[in-house]
Amino acid sequence: MPPTKRTEILITGSGSAGLTAATYLAQQGIVYTLLEQRDGPLTMGQADGVQCRTVEIFESFGLGEEVLREGFHVVEVGFWGDRSSTSTSAGEGDGNGAGIGSGAGSGGIRRTGRTADTQPGLSHQPHVILNQARMNGLLIGRMRGFGGREIEYGCRVTGVEVDYADGGEYPVKVVVKRRGMVERWEARYLLACDGAHSTVRKALGYRMIGDTSDAVWGVMDMVPRTNFLDIRKKTTIRSKAGNLLIIPREGESRSLTRFYIELPGGTSAKDVTLQDLQNTAKDIFGQYEIEFVETVWWSAYAIGQRHADFFHKDYRVFLAGDACHTHSPKAGQGMNVSLQDGYNFGWKLAAVLKGLARPSLLETYVLERQKVAIDLINFDRYFARLFSSKREASAEEFQEGFVKAGKYTAGLTAKYDASPITMDTGVAGELSANVVVGMRLPSAQAVRFCDSKPVQLATVLKSDGRWRVMAFVGDVGVAENRVKMAALGDYLGSRESPLQKFRLKDSDPDSLIEPILVGYGRRHEVELEEIPESFYPITGKNQIRDLHKIFFDDESYNKGHGHLYEHLGISPNKGAIVIVRPDQYVSAVFGLDDYRRVGEFFEGFMIPQKAELLTGRL
Ligand SMILES: Cc1cc2nc3c(=O)[nH]c(=O)nc-3n(C[C@H](O)[C@H](O)[C@H](O)COP(=O)(O)OP(=O)(O)OC[C@H]3O[C@@H](n4cnc5c(N)ncnc54)[C@H](O)[C@@H]3O)c2cc1C
Repeated sequence: MPPTKRTEILITGSGSAGLTAATYLAQQGIVYTLLEQRDGPLTMGQADGVQCRTVEIFESFGLGEEVLREGFHVVEVGFWGDRSSTSTSAGEGDGNGAGIGSGAGSGGIRRTGRTADTQPGLSHQPHVILNQARMNGLLIGRMRGFGGREIEYGCRVTGVEVDYADGGEYPVKVVVKRRGMVERWEARYLLACDGAHSTVRKALGYRMIGDTSDAVWGVMDMVPRTNFLDIRKKTTIRSKAGNLLIIPREGESRSLTRFYIELPGGTSAKDVTLQDLQNTAKDIFGQYEIEFVETVWWSAYAIGQRHADFFHKDYRVFLAGDACHTHSPKAGQGMNVSLQDGYNFGWKLAAVLKGLARPSLLETYVLERQKVAIDLINFDRYFARLFSSKREASAEEFQEGFVKAGKYTAGLTAKYDASPITMDTGVAGELSANVVVGMRLPSAQAVRFCDSKPVQLATVLKSDGRWRVMAFVGDVGVAENRVKMAALGDYLGSRESPLQKFRLKDSDPDSLIEPILVGYGRRHEVELEEIPESFYPITGKNQIRDLHKIFFDDESYNKGHGHLYEHLGISPNKGAIVIVRPDQYVSAVFGLDDYRRVGEFFEGFMIPQKAELLTGRL
């Protein structure tokens, strides 16, 4: 028997969840082992909807431009219904004319409405469509760029147990089949991202709970030849012949398109043929002609709305992605929620393994993502009812429901409950009306002080494992605000500052907690020397002052005014301190003069480092 292999963190499955966790770990310089049963990366198919929130995450890893350049931007949604239905939204009805032929099962279809896909102000990023294989590929490239370990393909995990008999340092015992040969592994932690049929979940004896009636969905990526009017828009068609969702795909020259088709109850996924999908689609298209010129991928799969009964074992094994939640593809959530599980876990585990945070930080993964999974299942049930041909929602009802769901489907409704890293101090409503503790920080444009560049605030919040203490110091023309800014600056630069106490030996003063200052008003009336030096600390190889942490909510030269304070609901007279996590979620909001509570907050879960080892200066 070959010797047992040892690793700090074992990840099973290189889908969206596993890759995102691995990317964040790689960014943090943590060595992991990522085992994948397939022989190589995903090349085609599966999910394609990329929420605004996921684009924000990719941007924070430095992948935003690729996603925006390559993806199809979903700007408008079209709604189509039965031609015989009487209801039509105002200004609509122009799609019911010139029909050619007639589908066998439908009396024809007509447009019943249109709406913006993402309501204005929700995110600075759009909703895009980009194949999951490409999304995975981008993550693999970034993982490599960060110096992360290569995926080990052809490795199937077959057994897992947690056993403390040998002292418990590496309690996760794993059996792996590598191209037919059995290997034994032990790990400190295991992240199970092995999909809907998770071996790890089954090995732990955990079950999926929820609805058992698996709806079957057909999906095909193909090039249509059609006279349907909205073929290059995200469009829902609800007709007597069934329901269909059109998703235009990336690549304008080719007009690749995805259809999702809900198949009749009782259909078995394994019996579905491409011809079945094509015939159903033709029926639903009613009077419009459609031919399938080229089909590049198709699949039929059964979906239950379920989540695992447990999300962890002793906080040593954690489930993520489809391994702990499955649902229908209608709302385009599968890849996103799974990827965001991995994202939530990656930075937390890195902080624990580096000795920066207590292991109890990992408990917040379960607290936060289990709630998200349950919300997802509930949302999916609501959305399924809305879509269902049985329920007969009117066109108006359907469109209204769809628009209401927009914030959810953009990925911007997750709100994490109170925990050591999510502390509702009760003042957020008063000091920062639109900054919600437990939710991701909204973004708007501000002007960087050192070079007058207009920047989205979100682009400052990179996924680099750092926390941010964001000092919205208000209008510094107000004497009281200047006094508060100076006191806060003194505190952040002092030895008792959390910036000093918790960072690693020989690291820069901003390496764990980055101080950021956002002033309000005319930046040209302020000089750098009037701003506390702790907001431009001495950092880096050359030990020079980093001037890129100071911003003003002010008019830019060429890109207008972002009105950031207004967007966040922060008063220029009072200001606020906002603590932001390494995943852009808001941990706490304090009054400007309540700065000592910033230190108390970090005491709650971080490990103080030995003072004599700290070398950097503020
Ligand atoms: C055929 C198919 C089509 C889909 N189509 C859509 C769609 O059109 N729209 C949509 O929104 N969602 C779709 N989904 C769902 C969506 O792809 C998932 O929600 C998303 O991929 C979940 O990400 P994940 O990382 O949790 O799991 P996955 O992406 O499924 O990744 C799991 C990985 O684990 C590997 N693995 C499994 N078992 C083991 C093991 N024992 N040892 C090692 N590795 C293992 C798998 O090979 C896989 O690479 C589809 C899923 C499938 C399977």
